[in-house]
Amino acid sequence: MKYLLFLAFCLTLQMCSQVKKPEISQQKNATTMENSTTQKENPYYSRTDRTKLNVPNSEWKKILSPEVYAVAREADTERPGTGKYNQFDELGEYYCVVCGNHLFRSDSKFSSTCGWPSFFEADKEGVAYKRDSSYGMERTEVLCKRCDSHLGHVFNDGPPPTGTRYCMNSVSLDFVPDSQVANNK
Ligand SMILES: [Zn+2]
Repeated sequence: MKYLLFLAFCLTLQMCSQVKKPEISQQKNATTMENSTTQKENPYYSRTDRTKLNVPNSEWKKILSPEVYAVAREADTERPGTGKYNQFDELGEYYCVVCGNHLFRSDSKFSSTCGWPSFFEADKEGVAYKRDSSYGMERTEVLCKRCDSHLGHVFNDGPPPTGTRYCMNSVSLDFVPDSQVANNK
């Protein structure tokens, strides 16, 4: 009997020591999901729908940030060397920041010294061209084919295989890394 009591005593001790293990935090994951939506209230944004949009600037002004609006809708140019995709070589896809239309693949991006992200090839379904004679220069403006937003200009001094240089504003681009593209499929 004594032995049994002793055994019970030992078991109780053991249980107590287990219960007393420190309760390690389980509250750590609460804040990790926050920035998952990069696009705020933009009903026109789609990475799959390529239907032409005809949205007036008065509407875009309500949706886009002032910085994006100035470049994309008023053909402003970001200062050279300041864009987030200028010195950037991750693998993934580039979309129009205004409407989500696919524009470039990272494979066609090259290191250029001009101060803006540069590509030697664009998605033919993604971009459109327009003659631009502003500032006393003859240039070819590159626009998003879906929403007509200004992206940058294209020149004939690019590297092989195309010899073309798409000189883009980072502000107009929305980059999605390959890992995220795969997850969305
Ligand atoms: Zn667009």
